[in-house]
Amino acid sequence: MLSTIKATLTTINSIAIVAVSIAVLAFSIKVHEALYLESVKTDFSPLSENISNDLIKFINTEQPDIFGITSTLLRLEGYENVKYAVVLSPTYQTIQFYAGKAIEEKTADEIMAQTEFSRFQSGMSIDGNNLIAMRPIGEKTLPLGHFLIVNDLAKPLKQSKLDLLSSTLPLVLMVMLTAVLILRWLNTKMLSPFSSLARLARKIKQTNDYTIQIDVDGKKEVQDLSSEFSSMMETIHSEEVKNKKYTVQLMKQRKDMERLANFDTLTGLPNRLSFMEKLQSQLKSAFIQGENPALFYIDLDGFKDVNDTYGHDLGDSLLKHVSKRIQTHLNERDIIARLGGDEFVVLIVETLNEQKIKDKATVFIKELSSTFKLDDWEVQVSASIGIAYAESGDFQVGQVVTNADLAMYRAKLDGKDTYRLFTEDLMEVNRRKLAIANSLSNAIKNDEFTLYYQSKVNHARRIVGFEALIRWTNEELGFVGPDEFINIAEKSGKIHQITQWVIKQCCQDINYLRKLYGSEIVLSLNLSSFDLKIPSLADHISALFEAHSVPAHCIEFEVTESAYLENFDEANAFFERIKQIGCTIALDDFGTGYSSLSYLTQIKIDTLKIDKQFVDKLGVSKRNTLVTKTIIELAKQLNLMICAEGVETSEQAEFLLNAGCNTLQGYYFDKPQPLETLADHAQATKTNPLQTGS
Ligand code: C2E
Ligand code: CA
Ligand code: CA
Repeated sequence: MLSTIKATLTTINSIAIVAVSIAVLAFSIKVHEALYLESVKTDFSPLSENISNDLIKFINTEQPDIFGITSTLLRLEGYENVKYAVVLSPTYQTIQFYAGKAIEEKTADEIMAQTEFSRFQSGMSIDGNNLIAMRPIGEKTLPLGHFLIVNDLAKPLKQSKLDLLSSTLPLVLMVMLTAVLILRWLNTKMLSPFSSLARLARKIKQTNDYTIQIDVDGKKEVQDLSSEFSSMMETIHSEEVKNKKYTVQLMKQRKDMERLANFDTLTGLPNRLSFMEKLQSQLKSAFIQGENPALFYIDLDGFKDVNDTYGHDLGDSLLKHVSKRIQTHLNERDIIARLGGDEFVVLIVETLNEQKIKDKATVFIKELSSTFKLDDWEVQVSASIGIAYAESGDFQVGQVVTNADLAMYRAKLDGKDTYRLFTEDLMEVNRRKLAIANSLSNAIKNDEFTLYYQSKVNHARRIVGFEALIRWTNEELGFVGPDEFINIAEKSGKIHQITQWVIKQCCQDINYLRKLYGSEIVLSLNLSSFDLKIPSLADHISALFEAHSVPAHCIEFEVTESAYLENFDEANAFFERIKQIGCTIALDDFGTGYSSLSYLTQIKIDTLKIDKQFVDKLGVSKRNTLVTKTIIELAKQLNLMICAEGVETSEQAEFLLNAGCNTLQGYYFDKPQPLETLADHAQATKTNPLQTGS
């Protein structure tokens, strides 16, 4: 940069010097020209005057003396630049013509024919390239004739200018050169502090070392500039140190972010997002290379129980151990990830035949079902595994994962602690699920739901209540049981509408039921765990009660123990409101989810519904019979009502009533039936209480 400035400065100054020199030269030539003309004029004027005087004596006769005139004119021979001279009569007739050395190509006759001599004024004048002298011969007022000399100016002037240039130019050039050299030297001297700065800047650029200090001598401004430069360098240096620190911090943060974005913080395994990306590229290259990797979808059985029983810390620790145990059976190319919760996926990259894949699954199942020793506890879980080959899902990430998931779901349905390989028929299940989810949207609008009522009897075998159970018949799907569609409705976000429909229907039917079976009967309806999360539900219920004049104490809400405990705080708040309204609450399917009974003291229920599983095994398993008895005892001590469901035999009924159950429900007494048949049913049971199962 600085060298450019220097070069530019030198160039500008040199141009200036050359320009000035040329201007001076041009001016001096101009002056020289003027001086030359003046000198020619002064030389010429006396010559013309002398000759015209000398001509008097040759013309002042009757006949002009041509000889005398010619010899006088010959004096002009000594003058290089005379073009011609003419002796004219008083009326400007040519008497004698003299052609000089500088005459042009024209002949004397041509000149005389073309030139109007009378137009030249007397005295010296310049006409184009000619210096002209016109003199009267004799008295000015009465001349004897006229004498004209035309002298060439162009050639001698040119020659004179050349002479001038040749004599002055070397000097001018020398002066110019000296000036340019002096200027260069001055520039260099003036710019040297800047050059030092520039050199320093170049060095910093090359070394990136901002600690280099500058020391430049020079004028005050330059010194000021230098010190400013130094302080700027210090700032840059300290900024650079800061920047380095920030960069290190940023790199660390970026790594952390990457880890957070791509890895599961608990197990350190890739998370869903990064697994899906990896899977995508693996499937793509497998397809190209004709490979067929297998995807394992591993879901723990009973993980929730571990969390609830031992706490989340132990649950977390279990997940870490599960991840390690799976990894011990993988080779380097295989990919493992945690999808969330207790779900893991493994991609076995090498193409293995079905038997080898099954062997691998058996190893995982065995590994995960052996006891985990965590914090002095011995924890037992198992795993359900679904397996899908890449080919089964056309090497499409989404489809392969869905297939493995479906197979895993099948493994769960088939009793857990096992694996299933994806087969096409599982797709059917999925398709049906989708069809159900789709058809549910219009089920209410199309009036496809009905409520069936199953009676509950007391120790005197009199009907004291009913459970409302939903039924759905769809044109395309036919009859769909609640066990199948409630779950799908929950997952597809449609359960809330269904619950509202059920509540409304119950509100419409309760007074009819009261009429048939007495005003004290209680109608129970089922709530899903999703319903407990809707804060406005209690208000909605209360508004419906008012609209349909429903006595609140005639309505009971059943909620499964898992639904209650999974939403413990929300459920407590909701049931508090329900109790304020005046309804009762039953804990459904008791005994299927949680083995701990301690929470029974903390929740706001009125009735415990013993699950059909316990009832089924009464009299079959001694231990089970004892457990059932204990549950009933405990519930009584907690002042809870006890209802046993799924009662199918008189022995079961007998046992349960003797053990202290308040109400019984089951096929032994009644199957669920539509409202329309209840009038007859009521008539029949009035006279003949349910004893033998009608
Ligand atoms: P749940 O609440 O435990 O209802 C009892 C289920 O056991 C009913 O099946 C009933 O028909 C059946 N059952 C009753 N006594 C016997 C018996 O002696 N033997 C046998 N084998 N079964 C008996 P259902 O109606 O198919 O309902 C199944 C489940 O669907 C219900 O189990 C409940 O969880 C759910 N559900 C039914 N209706 C509704 C509803 O309106 N809303 C909600 N959220 N869930 C409902
Ligand atoms: Ca129920
Ligand atoms: Ca139940």
